[in-house]
Amino acid sequence: MKCPICGKEMEKGYIQSGRTAFFTTKKKHVFFVAGSKDVVLTEDNFTCPTGDAYNCKECKKIIIDYSSPEESSNL
Ligand SMILES: [Zn+2]
Repeated sequence: MKCPICGKEMEKGYIQSGRTAFFTTKKKHVFFVAGSKDVVLTEDNFTCPTGDAYNCKECKKIIIDYSSPEESSNL
């Protein structure tokens, strides 16, 4: 994948976390569980939460492909 900012080839890798990783528009402070409007970024969330990602070392930006993880509403 080419970086949309600088156009250089991005490094394919993974995001991993000890818990489900998700994107939210409202920062959570206590209850760290994805809500129905949040975007779940990882799959295998009960064993080893992992998602596909691409890193641009030049721009220090990471693009996360969340096309495969289940929707948060299905958890
Ligand atoms: Zn870049």
